[in-house]
Amino acid sequence: MTKTVAMEKMLKKADLAAWMAKLEQTRLFAPALEDEDVWNYMPVADAKAVGLDHPNTIRPPKGFVFPQREVLYKFSQIPSEAPILTETLPDPEPTVVFGVRPCDSRGLVRQDIVFTKEYEDPYYHGRRAKVIYVGQACNTPPSANCFCSSVGGSPCAEDGLDVLMTELDGVYHVKAVTARGAELLAKGGDLFKEASDADKASVLKTHAAAKAHPQRPIKDLGKVAGALKKNFDSPAWDEMAKACIGCGICTFLCPTCHCFDINDEVTCSSPCSGERVRTWDTCQFPDFTMHTSGHNPRHDLGSRLRQRVCHKFLYFVENHDTQQCTGCGRCVSLCPVGIDIVSVVERLGQP
Ligand code: SF4
Ligand code: SF4
Repeated sequence: MTKTVAMEKMLKKADLAAWMAKLEQTRLFAPALEDEDVWNYMPVADAKAVGLDHPNTIRPPKGFVFPQREVLYKFSQIPSEAPILTETLPDPEPTVVFGVRPCDSRGLVRQDIVFTKEYEDPYYHGRRAKVIYVGQACNTPPSANCFCSSVGGSPCAEDGLDVLMTELDGVYHVKAVTARGAELLAKGGDLFKEASDADKASVLKTHAAAKAHPQRPIKDLGKVAGALKKNFDSPAWDEMAKACIGCGICTFLCPTCHCFDINDEVTCSSPCSGERVRTWDTCQFPDFTMHTSGHNPRHDLGSRLRQRVCHKFLYFVENHDTQQCTGCGRCVSLCPVGIDIVSVVERLGQP
């Protein structure tokens, strides 16, 4: 979306708050403990409290550009007069989101594909243009369900980010990867020092060590799409989906899932007025594909699990030449009944 640059600087960890203080007239968000063991992006109230040593957040950062509920336009109609429609295109305040993990920034790239190539969505782009993503490389061992490297990513990938920060010993290596990322660093002025050759060597070593941490493997990624197609009618879909309770957690918390529904919410009947609203929806809800006739082409759990997995590892690959899964592991860790997309791919996505 934006021009790529490469600018490498160093920032003392103790100066992170001072940098944030210089980002005036901008909403700042960073991961913070929302509840016991629950990390989420929260407005930065006290920059000194931001540590950037968080595990990944429960909610991915997709809501900054694709909110769970969004008014598309307002309507009103006085009987016998033409309806009045007022489009409500977003005009958000400039926002910087710190601490984005590379699996989630790669999720943003998938969202960009959907909301740009599949169709041009002015609501998405209105927000996307105002949100800057500052990533945080993962340099500690991954959680048990992380598999970014198995789907073409890495713990220090830059895709979708404006800035990538890597924690070294008492300092951050801060790399601007887009022009607006470079502008963000420029606002920090003297707080940033040029990265020396030794700093650059150190960050490369740290990234290499991060990439060497073992993750859950997916064998023969290039053959998964073909195998899923071959196994489309397998009875194993029903067997593996049997425990699903249709809660939608696996999709609502996925950084790449983007399905939505549109409804008219009438707030006043005389004169008739209200809002056209879009809200996240999920292929895991039984009525997602319900036709007006009552016929439902995905009437059972197996067909709904198959849709989720095939959308990510077959249809998106056919349409956009990349998986629509970035290996964040949320759907595996947070599914209340333990349905595990890696196990499904291992069973039905192998030649
Ligand atoms: S499908 Fe699961 S592991 Fe893959 S990106 Fe979505 S939530 Fe993460
Ligand atoms: S999180 Fe698990 S139980 Fe909930 S809809 Fe997804 S697969 Fe089904």
